[in-house]
Amino acid sequence: MTETEIYAAARKAEEQARALFDKIDANERHWTEKVIRAFAENRVSEACFAGTTGYGYDDLGRETIEKIFASLFDTECALVRSNFVNGTHAIACGILAPLSAGDVMLSVGPVYDTLMTLVGARGAVGGTFRDYGIEYREFPFEQNKPDIKALAAAASDAKVREVFIQRSPGYTARGGLSPEEIGKIAQAVKKVNPSAAVVVDNCYGEFCAPAEPTAFGADLCCGSLIKNPGGGIANCGGYVAGRADLVEKAAFRLTLPGIGGECGATLDNNRRILQGLFNAPHATAQALKTAVFAANLFSILGLSVSPGPDEARTDIIQTVDTGSEERLCALCRGIQSSSPVDSFASPVPAPMPGYDCPVIMAAGTFVQGSSLELSCDAPVRPPYRAYLQGGLTFEAGRYGVLNAALKMFL
Ligand SMILES: *Cc1c(COP(=O)(O)O)cnc(C)c1O
Repeated sequence: MTETEIYAAARKAEEQARALFDKIDANERHWTEKVIRAFAENRVSEACFAGTTGYGYDDLGRETIEKIFASLFDTECALVRSNFVNGTHAIACGILAPLSAGDVMLSVGPVYDTLMTLVGARGAVGGTFRDYGIEYREFPFEQNKPDIKALAAAASDAKVREVFIQRSPGYTARGGLSPEEIGKIAQAVKKVNPSAAVVVDNCYGEFCAPAEPTAFGADLCCGSLIKNPGGGIANCGGYVAGRADLVEKAAFRLTLPGIGGECGATLDNNRRILQGLFNAPHATAQALKTAVFAANLFSILGLSVSPGPDEARTDIIQTVDTGSEERLCALCRGIQSSSPVDSFASPVPAPMPGYDCPVIMAAGTFVQGSSLELSCDAPVRPPYRAYLQGGLTFEAGRYGVLNAALKMFL
């Protein structure tokens, strides 16, 4: 292929993406208004930026941030802390909240890779489900949507005290779940087992649809502040939003019973979390546009992509089946060399704990590991599927994707 042909394909891809861009813009306006209203209702002021040290009692900014998250998630309560070391940590606190010894956690499909150790499916390090006498059960979910009737039957066992759902497909081949679909699952579960809590791994999904899963009946949503809700500005952290009793129990996991969410110094993080949240609808829209552009460009160039160019999106991830190791590595090199940070680095496949094949990753980000910033990762095995996500500005996202295409096809 020639450079001229690839540039022409990129122009065509952008034209084809326009209709979806309009929808993404409308959703961004909706969330921006919702965020600003929540800021106003909760009287955000300069005083909220001050932060605390030491124990972190009476932190006005932290309390305000948590009320705002609760409002955005249409729920009672939220725990939003930079003390969560990552998304996995926040999700783990959410997972453990409803569970005691003897209970069963039923997961719709496997939990995300980094949670496998917690649920006792990998390794024995202590402090896992096995050590606490909690049973991990997996409901098979490999096709596009789960069979809700069969799932309700599995959830009707009185020992099931939690049904866990991951909104995005992660590294599995199934489709993503919309907040409404998660709500339908939650209602079906509650009908047969009212005491089971529905907990959602909401990573990458925040602000992609007009409302979050908690607005449709999920009990808890959990995620990372270095993804969508951090808006590319938060330095670190995670959140758990939902039913007050469960948020409190999640706080007992983050700190300890008796302390919960009362403590936790915010240092200088409040301003960045608030500014990040203000920017989050925009940054999420930029990432969605980058994903839609990539879907169009790579499908014009003959590759198989998911979601397809016109398919509905419940999160910011775009997969691209590159077809060969050489092309996959070229894609990652293109993304890396177009990044604002570490553009000189050259990604190469390397072994990673928990993977049965080498993994390649491209990320040149301001916040370490932030995948709301343009990034790409992939297990190096057929179909050489790249997981592409992020883009703080569409212009930078477009540039990275185009450079990746040039490296792959020239
Ligand atoms: C990112 C992510 C997590 C958490 O990952 P961290 O790297 O710990 O922040 C969990 N589940 C899904 C589906 C994710 O995408």
